[in-house]
Amino acid sequence: MTLSRIPLSAPDLGPAERALLIETFDAGWVSSVGPVVERFERTFAETVGLAHATAVSSGTAALHLALVMLGLKPGDAVIAPTLTFIGGVSPIVQTGATPIFVDVDPVSWNLAPALLDQAFEVAAHDGLTVRAIVPADLYGQCSDIDAIRAVADRHGVPVILDAAEAVGASRNGRAAGHGASCAAYSFNGNKIVTTGGGGMLASDDAALIARARHLATAARLPAVHYEHAEAGFNYRLGSLAAAVGLAQMGSLEAKVERRRAIFDRYVARLGSISGLSFAPEAPGCRHSRWLTVIRLDPARAGKPETLRLALETANIESRPIWKPMHLQPAFTGAAMIGGAVAEDLFATGLCLPSGSALTDDDIDRVCDVILAVMN
Ligand SMILES: *Cc1c(COP(=O)(O)O)cnc(C)c1O
Repeated sequence: MTLSRIPLSAPDLGPAERALLIETFDAGWVSSVGPVVERFERTFAETVGLAHATAVSSGTAALHLALVMLGLKPGDAVIAPTLTFIGGVSPIVQTGATPIFVDVDPVSWNLAPALLDQAFEVAAHDGLTVRAIVPADLYGQCSDIDAIRAVADRHGVPVILDAAEAVGASRNGRAAGHGASCAAYSFNGNKIVTTGGGGMLASDDAALIARARHLATAARLPAVHYEHAEAGFNYRLGSLAAAVGLAQMGSLEAKVERRRAIFDRYVARLGSISGLSFAPEAPGCRHSRWLTVIRLDPARAGKPETLRLALETANIESRPIWKPMHLQPAFTGAAMIGGAVAEDLFATGLCLPSGSALTDDDIDRVCDVILAVMN
């Protein structure tokens, strides 16, 4: 008998989501117009403690809007961490700007503030003007936003935060997103809360969010006919997705608690394996543990791919850490500051099943396979 599949991070939906979805459907709200999207936006903004938010079709779309609003053009550059998902980087290219990749910090795994000045120097040397910094809160750990902001302020550029993986995370008591000029969040199916597919752009800046909402709605001006002063996007989230998202917000805290408990269970069972270590929680941070990520010391614990294959044989999904952007064929020749930390994390890291719907028995099944391979 084959055991059931244990996925990396599956949606965690319950009766509350189903009820609100059907209620919204029955009320005839299916498009992006109506009270449910507005309620989702308000509830989300309150949850993260930012004044305004606009719901969009994906986290990538939220980041694209944020960059579009800067009026980027060829000759402009945007600084981004090399260790991230491409959704934080492709919008840079799509605005016509050039990405400049920077290595990550070995403790937080996020954009290393100490390397940022060098990125500005490289841009100037290449005849590019840096217009923004886009850090990412990787795997649910908040970036060192104050240190990044200090450099950004000195150079007079905004920080647009890719908080796609950090819904429910905080740093020094402030939710992911604070300290940036705006922050993008993702509700993709594998994220900590989901709308099936969707995102949010949030900020304390009312004008910024109003403009993002306008651009996301085909930049339609108030008129009886269709009036447009510029070309916008069709990026608004639909009401049915928003209904699922709104219901998910009610259990966000429980979902973060569950992900953290899953992390703790892995640590309790695997923590004494020689050469195996866990993603650190940076000082002052409440990691959401969107994914539990382990690292294997090659000399003592071998390659993560060996472990991944053993897990796959047991019908358990695991994944390497994000492949750094400067190693991606899409970004051949891009400027890169450092890179050894990201490359080492990619070579030695493995993401373990972390979905909040997993049971303790599921986690124990994963641990049993790892213990059998590594002891
Ligand atoms: C998921 C993710 C995104 C993109 O979000 P989508 O909603 O899938 O478009 C961007 N950046 C990071 C770091 C992500 O993990």
